Amino acid sequence: KKRDPHDYEFHQAVKEIFTSLIPVFAKHPFYIEQAVLERMVEPERMIVFRVPWVDDQGVTHVNRGFRVQFSSAIGPYKGGIRFHPSVNASVIKFLGFEQIFKNSLTGLPIGGGKGGSDFDPKGKSDTEIMRFTQSFMNELYRHIGASIDVPAGDIGVGAREIGYMFGQYKKIRGGYEAGVLTGKGVGYGGSLARKEATGYGTVYFVEELLKENGLSFKGRTVIVSGSGNVSIYAIEKAQQLGAKVVACSDSNGYIYDNNGLNLETIKQIKEIERNRIRDYLTVHPHAEYVEGCSGIWSIPCDIALPCATQNELDNMAAKALVSNGVKAIGEGANMPCTLEAVDIFLNSGVLFGPGKAVNAGGVAVSALEMAQNSMRLSWSFEEVDVKLHEIMKTIFENSMKAAEEYGHPGNLVIGANIAGFLKVADAIIAQGVI
Ligand code: NDP
Repeated sequence: KKRDPHDYEFHQAVKEIFTSLIPVFAKHPFYIEQAVLERMVEPERMIVFRVPWVDDQGVTHVNRGFRVQFSSAIGPYKGGIRFHPSVNASVIKFLGFEQIFKNSLTGLPIGGGKGGSDFDPKGKSDTEIMRFTQSFMNELYRHIGASIDVPAGDIGVGAREIGYMFGQYKKIRGGYEAGVLTGKGVGYGGSLARKEATGYGTVYFVEELLKENGLSFKGRTVIVSGSGNVSIYAIEKAQQLGAKVVACSDSNGYIYDNNGLNLETIKQIKEIERNRIRDYLTVHPHAEYVEGCSGIWSIPCDIALPCATQNELDNMAAKALVSNGVKAIGEGANMPCTLEAVDIFLNSGVLFGPGKAVNAGGVAVSALEMAQNSMRLSWSFEEVDVKLHEIMKTIFENSMKAAEEYGHPGNLVIGANIAGFLKVADAIIAQGVI
């Protein structure tokens, strides 16, 4: 805190993880003695750079770019790129820090990193997006590579932006290094099922959690916040499993459809037209639209999947969900619930799946994309989906096991943090003080 007093989100993430590791330190004090925590919270490096670009009117703008290469203890740095005006050093560090443990949980050999810019893609033309992403890559290319650091998408960065970044990387470096970025289009090195992976994985994880408690998605009322990459495919899988998803949102407001959301309309608005979620009502006038997103949590539901952004679900929202009888929460986004909200859920007996376990399916399939690129092969959708499903089940089981072993049975916040931590901590010690 002394070094970076304003890193609010980063401190929140560190506090959440380190508090839950107390039972590990009690049993194995050598992690403290060997300064593993000090080594973990200090990124291996943080790159900050200028991103100048020219808009369609010929006006020059300057944004700030970031890449944090947090930990390469168990593999090359891996983590998404976020384009959103809220991006700053603290947000990038919190995401990169969480990524270390999440990537470890997948069981695949990937380290932790994250990047982004405070650029706002909203309302920008396709050519503006292209010029910005090319300028971003004009600096980023120096720091990444298939065995060094492999970025992917995140908020504001989907297949279009990854495509432009990949093109620019190739132009500068030459050759065809497919494994330098993941989330590519399937026609040029992308993996089938990557687009669906985070949302599907979220639902696969929550399905395990429900099953463990004699419940399922079938016939349940579900709320999914956001309407981006994670949300859309969480809605799709939840519907496939027989749930009725009644509400979703964007950063302006939320829609409520008592008949169950029509996902084709949402995909058309968000993936194709890149418009606002309120446009849903022009096709389905019986639905309701409410300005502002936090009210979405006041809708009664059995299962809530916050899939938009950090700290979108606070203690007031948590209390409303609990008093409406919510049974399970699965964090599709990174840190969408505040620390107070998580405490409310855990103390009220609500089943709770933390983001770094629940949404790890995205990065897991990114690692499978890297594997396919290395082999110069591509697997079928079903093959990748089966692997994703297996990985999510294993993450659930390992998190449950760790929670049990360290005296907090059923607490997946603690279990996921411990399971993710141990592998990285042991690798840090094994590799000496470097
Ligand atoms: P997208 O940009 O595709 O979608 C984000 C959605 O959340 C949009 O509907 C957006 O609305 C909404 N949103 C963004 N910021 C806010 C805000 N401040 N308040 C309310 N709503 C907001 O991003 P993703 O779906 O890729 O990512 C969502 C979350 O999931 C993030 O936390 C991300 O880090 C996490 N995640 C993503 C992975 C992936 O594979 N994509 C992997 C693992 C985690 P609008 O359209 O108005 O901007």
